[in-house]
Amino acid sequence: MCRHLGYLGREVLLGDLLLLPPHSLMRQSWAPQDMRGGGTINADGFGVGWYTATRPEPTRYRTVRPLWSDAAFASLAGTTSSGAVLAAVRSATVGMPVVETANAPFADGEWLFSHNGRVDGWPVSLAGLAARLPTVDLITLDAPTDSAVLWALVRDRLRAGEPPGVALAEVVAAVDEAAPGSRLNLMLTNGRQLAATTWDHALSVRHNADGVLVSSEPIDGESDWKALSDKQLITISESTVDIESL
Ligand code: GLN
Repeated sequence: MCRHLGYLGREVLLGDLLLLPPHSLMRQSWAPQDMRGGGTINADGFGVGWYTATRPEPTRYRTVRPLWSDAAFASLAGTTSSGAVLAAVRSATVGMPVVETANAPFADGEWLFSHNGRVDGWPVSLAGLAARLPTVDLITLDAPTDSAVLWALVRDRLRAGEPPGVALAEVVAAVDEAAPGSRLNLMLTNGRQLAATTWDHALSVRHNADGVLVSSEPIDGESDWKALSDKQLITISESTVDIESL
């Protein structure tokens, strides 16, 4: 299963956040410690979205290259800093294509979204929920994958004005009913707020003076990481971190 990471806090070089730590997302791309539901490495591409002071919409970099083999990104990450980042490395679920656009983060306006997991029985199990979306959302999906449909469901709720945590919780509940047994670790940010779920996969959080970091696997061996329980929702804003049961 893919690994993802979200950060809100003081400006940091992308390289210091994603490449240099001992168990960075880059290391997790070739040596993850907690893969569930198939897959041993995350070599099917990666994506990084980050926010800068110049505009509310994030900048996004996605590719099918493994994170460890992308020298262009490493160079960029050594000179680019941000205080709000969402990044993911991908291990494509069997039957889903290895294409750039299947990599998280998915984006819409100021929003970025990632899914770590798999929808059981996809695509049939999601057909009923997808049928309720506007047709244009279905024909403009980023990729023919479960994650892209989940993003369309979340985006629809954001466009209706739902707060990020509510949108994620509703989509997890609806998809779990339609496709029981699915793994649904979702992550969503607009650069100021961040929400993430645990649904049959791991997620850890670190909150200190620098900011809040949420990651599938802790990126270092420091003792201030807290592992979330299964079936929880974490919502983060500038001043608060709330964890509740789903
Ligand atoms: N099922 C999604 C995909 O194939 C996510 C994969 C994962 O979490 N390993 O893109």
